[in-house]
Amino acid sequence: MPELPEVETITNELKRTLKGAAIEDAKFSRPKLIKGISYTTLRKDLKGKKIQKIERRAKYILLHLSGGKTLILHLGMTGRLLLHPQKEKGQVTNLKTKKKEPDRFVRGQFFLNKNRVLDFSDLRLFGRVYLMDTANIAQKDPIKKLGIDPLSKNFTYPLFAQQLRKRKGKVKVVLMDQTFLAGIGNIYSDEILFEARIYPLTLVQALKPPQAKALYSAIKKILKKGVRYRGTSDSDYFDLRGNIGSFQKHLRVYRQTGRPCPRPSTTLGTGPCKGTVKRMKVGGRSAHFCPSCQK
Ligand SMILES: [Zn+2]
Repeated sequence: MPELPEVETITNELKRTLKGAAIEDAKFSRPKLIKGISYTTLRKDLKGKKIQKIERRAKYILLHLSGGKTLILHLGMTGRLLLHPQKEKGQVTNLKTKKKEPDRFVRGQFFLNKNRVLDFSDLRLFGRVYLMDTANIAQKDPIKKLGIDPLSKNFTYPLFAQQLRKRKGKVKVVLMDQTFLAGIGNIYSDEILFEARIYPLTLVQALKPPQAKALYSAIKKILKKGVRYRGTSDSDYFDLRGNIGSFQKHLRVYRQTGRPCPRPSTTLGTGPCKGTVKRMKVGGRSAHFCPSCQK
């Protein structure tokens, strides 16, 4: 599932390539991805609109259009956006052969000026497309209920600590609660907890101040690292040109079950951690962690 670093990577590419572009038409083979308005209205309202500004709010990509409308895209579990010339098909990298091949899961297409097409591809159909009045987006779902964006400037330690005090429950579950911090999912929560040396089942109300501080620093560090490596391509995620990210090469615990713990030294600096990465179920999801150095 795309998390913040993946959506940030795509948004940055969209900003570079589509600012000022005009939408000529939109066609969806799966109109059920469109929420809040009909497919007919979406097509009618998009025609001739210019993309004036592009931004990200948590895992939502916002394309602010001329005429006071905002096109909001959410990639769900397996969604991706692919930009390509109209005479070609959107291509993705085959993870085994590393060769490009046509994307097989295109559900909708935005036709742009200069003969460009932006594909909305989504194998499992959990993606979402909204078109809303720009003036209302902050007061309405899906944007209204989102928690703090950990990549934003507003994500300060005092704010994090204050919000954390209002929460109860297992830290792994709280980290993935989109109304607390928006955009963290299974991959990055595992990596963050490993970085912060916190056991996934620790209750947030039991975290000591140094642990809360370590957690805050780890969130920032791991997400920034994820953006630097252009996201994690372990199954469905590709960037706007169908290229893979490379954070999967830097995963330390996520899906590393049975491997030796990669931590180079213990808290006392007395040599490498002797633990083995384990997997367990937490709130219906898998947590990967090292039982020796995550307490
Ligand atoms: Zn360890």
